[in-house]
Amino acid sequence: MGGGSTPGSSEKPRNLRIAIVGAGLVGSAAVLALSKLPDVEITAFEKAPAAREAGAWISLTVTGLKVLNKLVPPTEIEEISYRPPDRAVYVTRHWRTGQDLVRRYSSDHIREDTVQARTHREPLLKLLVKHHAEGIVKYGRKVVDVEDGPGGAELYFDDGQTLDGFDLVVAADGIYSSLRRKFWPEHRVAFKGAVAYRNVFPKSLVEGIEGLHDDSSAWRKDGEVVFLSELGLDKYGVVIIRGESEEYASKLKWEHPVGPEDLQRLRDIYKDWDPVISRVLDVVKDIQAYPLDSGPWLRELTRNDRVAFIGDAAHPTAGAYGAGAAMGFGDGWALYRALQATRTREGPVPGRYNVPAALRVFQEARAPFLLRVESQMALDVEDSKFVAAAREDEVEWIRRFKERNPENQWLTEHNVELEVQKAIMGQPRLPA
Ligand SMILES: Cc1cc2nc3c(=O)[nH]c(=O)nc-3n(C[C@H](O)[C@H](O)[C@H](O)COP(=O)(O)OP(=O)(O)OC[C@H]3O[C@@H](n4cnc5c(N)ncnc54)[C@H](O)[C@@H]3O)c2cc1C
Repeated sequence: MGGGSTPGSSEKPRNLRIAIVGAGLVGSAAVLALSKLPDVEITAFEKAPAAREAGAWISLTVTGLKVLNKLVPPTEIEEISYRPPDRAVYVTRHWRTGQDLVRRYSSDHIREDTVQARTHREPLLKLLVKHHAEGIVKYGRKVVDVEDGPGGAELYFDDGQTLDGFDLVVAADGIYSSLRRKFWPEHRVAFKGAVAYRNVFPKSLVEGIEGLHDDSSAWRKDGEVVFLSELGLDKYGVVIIRGESEEYASKLKWEHPVGPEDLQRLRDIYKDWDPVISRVLDVVKDIQAYPLDSGPWLRELTRNDRVAFIGDAAHPTAGAYGAGAAMGFGDGWALYRALQATRTREGPVPGRYNVPAALRVFQEARAPFLLRVESQMALDVEDSKFVAAAREDEVEWIRRFKERNPENQWLTEHNVELEVQKAIMGQPRLPA
């Protein structure tokens, strides 16, 4: 039970004490969402010495934008984003010919400021941090353990310090989450056989390139993809995701430039693809490597009626659907709405939260959707094999590709708010 007073007592409950572990994109958004609750005391602990994100592109799905627009002024998101003129279309192209195979738009009814967009991570994180209350994130604080204590959860830090009395701990510590390892020691994160190569650079470098599109394009060949797009703030981005051997990937370092030799290797690999890709790779001065790890997703998003897992700590997408951060924003929003629904407004003790009930709502609102996304990833692997089997027959390859790429608005436009309302509806007599 949160809020610090015993049921039935008329004493005013103390503030609900929430710790957020990790202040990446998802933890930082959760800080803003949970700060909307009255009578809470929130502290986020981030192991990095300061707010920092990789210089890489990020797609903002409709779902992600709907949440972000509730956390920061929509005009400020507009300022850092890019939407292609043709209603922000995302085009999937044939790897060699550039032929347009699938065009993905946001649904017609979607409001302009939540139509899918692209931006890059640094300005997005800066924007979230700009709206944090002063000092709410404690940087340079690495959490190494969490225990259930008599007065609430206890957090242990790498410098030997312990803080106790937390009513709720939100684990937003990413794919290598130490809190997840504590509760599920058998969960393993391992190299998934692919590397992402990413760079964000001034748009001026690609200006005048013949054949450059003003949309966001993805050229696909069996399991391999090259993305190109303008990203906002006069930046342009390239992302390549391709299978690499474990041996090759082991010499690459996360977020480190690959160097001239390996950049040339990529240029050589893509020289037979749509020529616009080579033209862009020719002006790129370097590219950073991100060897991709993945692991199982959590079935249970909560532990001990006190700990909630959000973002990559719960569901590491490794880039799939360009939606991992957006799903994490949805987690934070769902947690906020779940806590809000369990807070007493009237009666002898107004202002008491019921954390266990909130965590049940959170689990019910998020788990079915997240597990459906995870199962889609497995289906995609099968579809990809089916398409690849026709690689010698281009007409059939294209037919199969289109057939196995149906609309996925159920994912990119998932309605977090509706799912929370349904979960609340399923818990009669909240907030008691
Ligand atoms: C190639 C690629 C492309 C992607 N493209 C997209 C996209 O287009 N759109 C999209 O929405 N998503 C995309 N994603 C997914 C997205 O990047 C992640 O889902 C998102 O960044 C996860 O954010 P997070 O805050 O949960 O985790 P992280 O970003 O990993 O943040 C975790 C934070 O916790 C901190 N931390 C870790 N351990 C501790 C500890 N013990 N104590 C204190 N602090 C700790 C870390 O320092 C870090 O700041 C992509 C991912 C990849 C790999």
